[in-house]
Amino acid sequence: MTSLANLLDFDLDGLAAFCDQLEEKRFRAVQLFRWIHQRGESDFSRMSDLAKSLREKLVNVACVQALPVLAQRESADGTIKWLFDVGGGNAVEAVFIPEDGRGTLCVSSQAGCAVGCRFCSTGRQGFSRNLRTSEIVAQLWFAEHFLRQHLHRDERVISNVVMMGMGEPLQNYSMLVPALRSFLDDHGYGLSRRRVTVSTSGVVPMIDRLAADCPVALAVSLHAPNDALRDELVPLNRKYPIAEVLDTCLRYLRRAPRDFITFEYCMLDGVNDQDEHARELVQLMRSHAGQGIPCKFNLIPFNPFMASGLTCSSAARVQAFARILSDAGIVTTVRKTRGDDIDAACGQLAGNVRDRTRAAQRMAQWRGVEHTAQHARRTIAVSHAGAITGTPSVAQEH
Ligand code: SAH
Ligand code: SF4
Repeated sequence: MTSLANLLDFDLDGLAAFCDQLEEKRFRAVQLFRWIHQRGESDFSRMSDLAKSLREKLVNVACVQALPVLAQRESADGTIKWLFDVGGGNAVEAVFIPEDGRGTLCVSSQAGCAVGCRFCSTGRQGFSRNLRTSEIVAQLWFAEHFLRQHLHRDERVISNVVMMGMGEPLQNYSMLVPALRSFLDDHGYGLSRRRVTVSTSGVVPMIDRLAADCPVALAVSLHAPNDALRDELVPLNRKYPIAEVLDTCLRYLRRAPRDFITFEYCMLDGVNDQDEHARELVQLMRSHAGQGIPCKFNLIPFNPFMASGLTCSSAARVQAFARILSDAGIVTTVRKTRGDDIDAACGQLAGNVRDRTRAAQRMAQWRGVEHTAQHARRTIAVSHAGAITGTPSVAQEH
């Protein structure tokens, strides 16, 4: 038996090509795409304005297959986190963060991650596999349509997507790009390019390709002002050192929907958080390539996890660091993390599991989190994106 094509794998052009094979015109693909993404419909028989003949064809060759939800947790502030089963004992997380005037979904791109940053529990788990386009899109598909029902809203709930969940999106490029296109498509989710952000540890050639193929907002995880330190924290730096990353950022800016690059900087106590590091960053940003880099900085207090051997910088240290950057004219925000007390930051539910994590183990951790959360009467927080929810302390983040 041939397997059914999952239509969540296709951007609109892909769906049009698929429909073409069925000898259906492009406008049929548009109708179908709208049913799937705008209306959240997965049952072809309910797509009432599609020709009956097409619906009958589709049943035999295609499906709209979402991801099973292993767990869902909602915090008092409306933040919701889902754990999705991607098979083979792997699970990935997506997080919805509601804020005034916008709703952000933090989306995963891989099960595990091969980059292996020292401060990241996803990286510590190692790499399991790339997500398919359908598995990336399914996170938004599910979250958007679940939330509309849950919040009794007819209109769009999720206005922003950040590829800041588990995995390095630019190491899963071919699956990422069609997903981004579905996010942006007016017949899909209709998100603005400025409101879809790819966060990367600095996969230089793929940043260039993204500029050409699908320029969305770019965030680069910098974490250090010099190669010696970044080599230790972000092993990919040995392949693509800071100067090359910054060069590609300058090239990206020619195509980017925003006129700055966001640099993320995880604040690690005694490691990269000293005044001299901040001053070195200022120098780097001002002088790179003789012209400097238009940028903003996001300082992320480290979310500790067991066996990382690292601790978060004090609030006073983070503020002092932010002050040096902002005094030098660099717009700097500090993300507020929540939930570090319950080990619930992104990729960190699995943080105590040293080996490649199995879904069952993750489930056990979720239960543990829930218990701790209830016990402590604290909200659960989430994700690297938990970090996104914060109130900027130095300047407002747009
Ligand atoms: N792989 C991509 C995107 C996912 S990670 C990247 O590295 O950019 C998203 C963000 O969360 C990155 O900036 C990453 O450095 C940060 N992060 C990872 N682990 C963290 C931790 N324990 N505490 C705080 N931020 C963390
Ligand atoms: Fe991978 Fe990003 Fe974690 Fe580094 S920070 S290990 S690139 S997910």
